[in-house]
Amino acid sequence: MELKQLYREIVNEHNLHPVHKGKMENADLVLRGVNPSCGDDITLYLKLEGEAISEASYDGSGCAISQASVDMMVDQIIGKKKDEAIKLAETFMGMIKGEITDEESIEALDEAAALQDVAHMPARVKCAVLGWHTMQEMLEHPEKAVPEN
Ligand SMILES: [Zn+2]
Repeated sequence: MELKQLYREIVNEHNLHPVHKGKMENADLVLRGVNPSCGDDITLYLKLEGEAISEASYDGSGCAISQASVDMMVDQIIGKKKDEAIKLAETFMGMIKGEITDEESIEALDEAAALQDVAHMPARVKCAVLGWHTMQEMLEHPEKAVPEN
């Protein structure tokens, strides 16, 4: 299968059948991420158990790339340690910016590696990294991600 076709199918699949979409009650960290240049607007929810992310979900709306990217991201970070999730976010953002191209690093991103082509679509970079950037921000600065109760 050609990469472009694979990419389109994965993006479509996550848009039609998102796996992790939905508000989470009793989340430990909640942070909204907005990409005004496209209108993508997501809220990410994380539940922590010690150093690990035990549950994660997102809610919101936006273009196909932003939604597929955050759905894939959530799929990957559940069960990961916080520092592993941050490392994945750095790898993903590096890949999208075209700074990380070695296969081994990109393979660690699993399905999200399908978004590598976004590196050639500068207008969509912010869409693709929105969820990952939001996740990194809330783990590195949890004081910004205190849920409103
Ligand atoms: Zn977008």
